[in-house]
Amino acid sequence: MLGTDKNAIRRLYLSGQWVEPEDPLPVVNPASGKVIAEVGTLGRPAVAKAIADASDAWPAWRRLPGRERGAYLSKIADVLQRRAEEIARIITLENGKPLAQSRGELSMAVDHLRWFAGEAQRAYGRVVPNQVEGKRHLVIRSPVGVVGAITPWNFPLVLAVRKVAPALAAGCPVMLKPASATPLSAVMLTEAVDEAGLPAAVFQLVVGQSADIGAEMLENPLCRKITFTGSTEVGRQLIRGAAENVTKLSLELGGHAPVLVFDDADLDKAVEGTLVAKFRNTGQSCVAANRVYVQRSIAERFIPALVDATRRLKVGGGLDDGVDIGPVIDEEALKTALERIEDAARRGARVLCGGRRWPGGEGYFLEPTLLGDVPEEAICMHEETFAPVMPVCVFDDEDEGIHKANATRYGLAAYAFTRDLSRTWRLAESLEAGSIGINDAVPATSQCPFGGLKQSGWGRELGTEGLDAFLETKHIILGVET
Ligand code: NAP
Repeated sequence: MLGTDKNAIRRLYLSGQWVEPEDPLPVVNPASGKVIAEVGTLGRPAVAKAIADASDAWPAWRRLPGRERGAYLSKIADVLQRRAEEIARIITLENGKPLAQSRGELSMAVDHLRWFAGEAQRAYGRVVPNQVEGKRHLVIRSPVGVVGAITPWNFPLVLAVRKVAPALAAGCPVMLKPASATPLSAVMLTEAVDEAGLPAAVFQLVVGQSADIGAEMLENPLCRKITFTGSTEVGRQLIRGAAENVTKLSLELGGHAPVLVFDDADLDKAVEGTLVAKFRNTGQSCVAANRVYVQRSIAERFIPALVDATRRLKVGGGLDDGVDIGPVIDEEALKTALERIEDAARRGARVLCGGRRWPGGEGYFLEPTLLGDVPEEAICMHEETFAPVMPVCVFDDEDEGIHKANATRYGLAAYAFTRDLSRTWRLAESLEAGSIGINDAVPATSQCPFGGLKQSGWGRELGTEGLDAFLETKHIILGVET
């Protein structure tokens, strides 16, 4: 248990056993800057062994009926649900997010597991009518093989589940490599997998130097697929590394979501939705609103209301009551956010509220910040700002709003507030984003596909599409006499 027995969380789970590797990695609580735990790390040879063991475990796992693989996922979900409060606190301790949001993350992880427990039974192929007498055609789908899953720190539990659950459901063994900043949630998931009794080496936890682990996953021919969530920069490195073995990749990368607030919007809902779109997870979400564009005719009402609402957000440690904004992940992230604010101000932006390190805590806290009159050249207008910093600008008409919203190399999420149905449809067709929230600020749900256009990634997670990343399609041709 965290805090009472450090050794209990130093362990890693390899080939169905808990082992205690060397070189413990310290885990820091971003709300205090203090080390709260240590987790063991692996070198490259141990990762190679994990891949070999996973490959040996593959034939038996893929042969299991989907219903049985799904039953294992349901058991993992049951364990997470039973330990929900304990795990939510661990998410908050290592990541910093407010406890209520950690509980939400835990619930969503459980929901994903239950969704894929069902999807495991639905990896359908099809029968295709023949064109020529004496032939029959089947399309079947088979698991791709051993999967390496690399995940970020911002949603340390749910983003791991978003990969592990469909990989297992599809019949693939999976090795989870969590972010070094937040390995504890992955250890909790691993404990749930262990309790659910999965066969040895079907799931393994690998923590260590990301470049070494990534290189082994890319270069080892037994590792057939890498599914990655993280920055576009690291995604690009993986694409380059995948060239040699033509390793299959799914990539969930960075975002730079716009919010368009039209003059026909319900203003109260638009303020509330914009706050959620930006400040959920302390602004450290791939789908976070990074640019707000408000129609000029309502700017004088909308912007002051947004400033008031932002000022009311409560900053503090995630375990404290009623906190809306926790710390950012580390000192470096705080420094980058402050530099972005300074850059915008130097180019003529006005700091409407916030703008400084929050003085109330020892960790990496930033006051929730709104910037007005931000010029397009400011860094925060074209680079993802992973912090509670929100630039607010104006636009005149729909075409200009859409043009500004799409003026980015990213395409993960976009939001708009409007009550006009025809405009809603025009936005759905023209905004370049994988998820488009109209009068809604929380885009992900188990039942619908999630992923990015442009430099926000390749492929989709969740929904009925969620298994696709882990399945190969085969055409079977039968010569028959009829
Ligand atoms: P990151 O620096 O790209 O790291 C993500 C993961 O990749 C971590 O586990 C990291 O390990 C690992 N990694 C780093 N370099 C690697 C390499 N050379 N080879 C293999 N693995 C490597 O991203 P982050 O800072 O953790 O997360 C924030 C980013 O993720 C943002 O850009 C955000 O938008 C994006 N994100 C996207 C989605 C989505 O669904 N599209 C969701 C959430 C976050 P270490 O921690 O050990 O370095």
